[in-house]
Amino acid sequence: MSNIVKEVMSANAEYVSSFGDKGNLPMPPGRAFAILTCMDARLDPAKYAGLAEGDAHVIRNAGGRASDDAIRSLIISYKLLGTRERFVIHHTDCGMETFTTEIMGDLLSGSLKTANVDASGWHDSNAGGGTSDGKYINWLTISDNAKSVVEDVQRIRNNAMVPGDIPIYGYIYDCKTGELVEIAEATAEGRVR
Ligand SMILES: [Zn+2]
Repeated sequence: MSNIVKEVMSANAEYVSSFGDKGNLPMPPGRAFAILTCMDARLDPAKYAGLAEGDAHVIRNAGGRASDDAIRSLIISYKLLGTRERFVIHHTDCGMETFTTEIMGDLLSGSLKTANVDASGWHDSNAGGGTSDGKYINWLTISDNAKSVVEDVQRIRNNAMVPGDIPIYGYIYDCKTGELVEIAEATAEGRVR
């Protein structure tokens, strides 16, 4: 077994030992809201937004982008589980700002090994064994962080399956301070209609 598996299982045993009455939590989130945010390891939505088990839905992907799949989850979140407010939370220093869809396609063409980054950008070892499949994917990269929050709020707001009375708020998490900074234009776009 890998060390990581051992560490995870040991942490889980500790969690189980103090699980308490959380086994009685209902499925619908108790505080009836959902967060869409980035998978970045420095972000802990439970901590930065004060969540306990059972409180809220947290949907995460690279960039916290309003991809088709993120929207699928957000729709299930209200339609079947009753959440009534949404946060789109991107963050400073996001990896999605460091490449473009074209660059990702090229890196995957070079090899499937982990690429390296330096001041001049991303570089592949070009060791071979790559694939052109990455050229057919929109990687939803970010060129302007605040604008990407506005765009994602707009994309959710304009989806025909998202009711107008669900407010959507836009924020950027500051990785240096832990602060959530509102993007007023995004929140305005996400207001109840
Ligand atoms: Zn990120």
